[in-house]
Amino acid sequence: MKDKCTFCGRSRNEVELLIDGVSGSICDQCATQAFEIVQEDQKSRSTFEIKPSSVKKPQEIKAFLDQYVIGQEEAKKHIAVAVYNHYKRLFQSDAKEDDVEIEKSNILLVGRTGTGKTLLARTIAKMLHVPFTIVDATVLTEAGYVGEDIESILTRLLQAADYDVEAAEKGIVFIDELDKIARKGDSPSITRDVSGEGVQQGLLKLLEGSVVNVPPQGGRKHPEQKMIPVNTKNILFICGGAFDGIERKIALRLNTKVVGFNASQATEGINRDNFLQYISPLDLKAFGLIPEIIGRLPVLTYLEPLDRNTLRNILTEPKNAIIRQYIKLFKIDGIELTFDEEVYEYIVDKAIEFKLGARGLRSICEAIMTDLMYEVPSQNKKKVRVTQAYAEEKMKRSDVQKLRA
Ligand code: ADP
Repeated sequence: MKDKCTFCGRSRNEVELLIDGVSGSICDQCATQAFEIVQEDQKSRSTFEIKPSSVKKPQEIKAFLDQYVIGQEEAKKHIAVAVYNHYKRLFQSDAKEDDVEIEKSNILLVGRTGTGKTLLARTIAKMLHVPFTIVDATVLTEAGYVGEDIESILTRLLQAADYDVEAAEKGIVFIDELDKIARKGDSPSITRDVSGEGVQQGLLKLLEGSVVNVPPQGGRKHPEQKMIPVNTKNILFICGGAFDGIERKIALRLNTKVVGFNASQATEGINRDNFLQYISPLDLKAFGLIPEIIGRLPVLTYLEPLDRNTLRNILTEPKNAIIRQYIKLFKIDGIELTFDEEVYEYIVDKAIEFKLGARGLRSICEAIMTDLMYEVPSQNKKKVRVTQAYAEEKMKRSDVQKLRA
């Protein structure tokens, strides 16, 4: 029987190569196919597999974040510890030895838009190899109203996990714009507050950890749809929000706490440029989050506004910094792209002038680079140097001017 492939039955002279085994043979084509099947299988299994030995220590986690996110030391430290503890928790719940249960360390990141909240969440997910999804809290409404049900958050996570429920149950969800579901007044409203307190109550269920019936295709729940039960006990929630105006509430609290002679002394050491660093659960309550939600987001941290120096670093330092991306794009065509130092300063100046923050860096770069990216591949150039004069010229003609905030 050794003159035929045991798998496809083709004979030795029909194939390029026939490899003989103890009780059968395999041809080159079947061997290649088998190799691909094995690879495919390994890929699907290892993507979401976490082993205790592969969990990084908080300092290693932070070092990883440092490669992609500039500054934001405080937030990185908090996230590193929270994620590390989250893993400890996962492994502990696998092996229940004593009664001490480590509580979930869901995170709340407060910081102006464009300071890196999403980037932090994305980066951490990249490192962890767990299913990850980003949802926007603004689309959520109370069940029965126009908008998405709270459960749709988990639909997204299931989709990210290729409907592997077990993997999804250890995933990470980033809920952006959490501040948008804050209660509109300070007191509970008499009229219905569809996108406020009701949504917070619904969200609470997910944050706490419970079994939630998830519509696999998302959208509205309807009776015929088969639901997938998902346990949220081990899902890590990272929430983010700008909480516009919360600085005033923080300032108010800091100033009113101390009354009398020592008042000015006690508030002396306060850095007035960045009140967010003093944020406390009390301020979130004053902003309109219900205490139960605040309690379920025990890790509260802030992001710094991006100063000039940080913006300059963001341009070139992170592993996938915008400038590095352009250099790589040109390199693929065999072209060496360089920028004069002043160009970086110019781009940062414009981002500040237009009040666009880090998000603006990309659109400004795009305005400068588009023509080059269009023209250079058809020219016979080996080197391209971007000067400030060139950048200014392109900016003058571009639509970016319209973005001016
Ligand atoms: P947020 O979620 O806080 O509104 P993002 O994380 O979406 O902001 O940031 C927008 C973009 O700005 C990111 O894609 C990234 O390119 C850049 N960026 C913002 N902050 C940083 C930072 N601290 N380090 C590196 N890049 C940053």
